[in-house]
Amino acid sequence: MARIVILTGAGVSAESGIRTFRDANGLWENHDITDVATPEGFEADPALVNEFYNQRRRQLCSNEVRPNAAHEALARLQRELPGQVLIVTQNIDDLHERAGATDVIHMHGELLNQWCLACGERTRTRDDIVDHTSCPACGERGRLRPDVVWFGEVPYEMDRIVNELESCTLFAAIGTSGEVYPAAAFVQYAVAVGAHTVELNLDASRAFSYFHEVRRGLASVEVPKWVDEVLAGC
Ligand code: NAD
Repeated sequence: MARIVILTGAGVSAESGIRTFRDANGLWENHDITDVATPEGFEADPALVNEFYNQRRRQLCSNEVRPNAAHEALARLQRELPGQVLIVTQNIDDLHERAGATDVIHMHGELLNQWCLACGERTRTRDDIVDHTSCPACGERGRLRPDVVWFGEVPYEMDRIVNELESCTLFAAIGTSGEVYPAAAFVQYAVAVGAHTVELNLDASRAFSYFHEVRRGLASVEVPKWVDEVLAGC
């Protein structure tokens, strides 16, 4: 069991060039989230939804996006405290892994995974998903969707996440608005078991009053400082 559980959100990747989605009046890259992040939106217009994620995937795979100092500091924390640090991310990008993190749960799925609705297989991809793309596992065409968890769907690995929260001694939430459940409630599990809780965020999140400690500022500045302090106290 990890002693330290770290929840990350879109704010940790903002300085890597990936926009968060609370930045622009609840729109995500100028789209209403119900159009691009719900099963109903996908059913209504699969081509639009696939293209939305194709654009995000292309950006993620381009040279313009790289891990920042926050991702690197969290990977260092995992390296220096082996087996003791779990990162649970709401992000669908792979920047924690690219920075060297090894134990990462993508509770909302991954942009670089596709899910075949015909055979149920999940496979890795860096390519666009279009209406004639065939599944590498079963060969069926036009049945792939991005393997991301949309509003109304159940996040991945909740059993393990809850187990880890119930035994942690330190919980940190970084770059997350506290608007999206169940992640927004994780701090309450940690408080209930007596863990110390810290929020690192640019603005006050919706959940900030649950935290013992709140640090305001850019993730690239605040996270390396906090990691240094955690390591110094071990
Ligand atoms: P959010 O967009 O709701 O909130 C982001 C939070 O990060 C805000 O509170 C903001 O103040 C803070 N923030 C912005 N820039 C920051 C910085 N440089 N340093 C520190 N904090 C900063 O994000 P959320 O809470 O993660 O929820 C959004 C959902 O959208 C997630 O479920 C995720 O799946 C999806 N999403 C993912 C990505 C990604 O993979 N990078 C990007 C956008 C949205």
